[in-house]
Amino acid sequence: MSPLSSTAKSEAPNVSFEFFPPKSEAMATRLWETVERLQPMAPDFVSVTYGAGGSTRERTHDTVRRIAQETSLRPAGHLTCVGATKEEVLSVAEDYWDAGVKHIVALRGDPPAGMGEKFEQYPGGFRDSIDLIQGIREHRPELGRCFEISVSCYPELHPESQGWDAEIAFLKAKQDAGADRAITQFFFEPQVYLNFLEKARAGGVTMPIVPGIMLQPNFKGLKRIAALCGSSLPDWLHELYEGLDEDEETRELVTANVAADLCRQLSDEGVRNFHFYTLNRAGLALSTCRLLGLKPNSAKAA
Ligand code: FAD
Repeated sequence: MSPLSSTAKSEAPNVSFEFFPPKSEAMATRLWETVERLQPMAPDFVSVTYGAGGSTRERTHDTVRRIAQETSLRPAGHLTCVGATKEEVLSVAEDYWDAGVKHIVALRGDPPAGMGEKFEQYPGGFRDSIDLIQGIREHRPELGRCFEISVSCYPELHPESQGWDAEIAFLKAKQDAGADRAITQFFFEPQVYLNFLEKARAGGVTMPIVPGIMLQPNFKGLKRIAALCGSSLPDWLHELYEGLDEDEETRELVTANVAADLCRQLSDEGVRNFHFYTLNRAGLALSTCRLLGLKPNSAKAA
């Protein structure tokens, strides 16, 4: 039996979108255009990342707050344990709450010295993602208990993983600490996700595990990120992008089709929710949604 709850395959999928906070005026313009164009897709939520080392704290916060206040979307703010005390992190959570943001993506974050280095707890800071989840849940009970909390998970293991048993036990511990949903690192083979789901369910993880779908048309960039975070790139993907370094338009079409094809294969297995790493590019996310049969739903989004 499929470890997924069964739902009608013909239903349009539920989607969510991830953005990153803009660094410049030009990037801000692109982000807000993207938000405006994706809003009619009526996503379940949209999330905004928190820069490595906590470097985008203000920009993430401003972006999340503006989405909450100026659009009909439900934003989630990413929060990490890096470079801040518990009080500082929890004050960001309080500011979110006051701004009407009720969803946090709770992460440990990368070591400030870079991936591959040992993660050191910041003085007075949270030890890891479990400590962070517990900290949020226990903070002012009327507030902490009411947040929706999403967390990360790694279908091809995190680079620091101590093996599958430890990985699944750790994810289960996040759930026990109060996580409501896990979003996966990106992957390209449906079986990678399905195998992981089976292991997670066997290990007692019952929360939804939403596949994270990458929309990166820059294949050189994708290879760099994949090498850092431990996602594998199948041979067929290398072949699809071969010779396209100077042809951005074709790469974008390939990217949307690869993402839609992955979602369709997962959909055939009963997966209904997809989280898109949009890289703030509306066209790619929109075309992927269209290929999946999702149409603008102005009534829902208004
Ligand atoms: P955790 O899940 O807490 O730990 C990472 C891994 O370390 C675990 O999977 C496990 O393999 C191992 N591990 C740690 N502690 C234990 C333990 N006690 N026992 C066993 N194993 C253990 N980074 C950012 O800087 N900003 C973001 O906004 C951001 N958003 C992300 C969103 C998603 C959906 C994902 C998948 C990743 C995101 N990242 C982000 C990247 C993330 O910060 C890095 O992968 C980081 O190295 C780990 O953070 P984490 O919360 O996933 O860590």
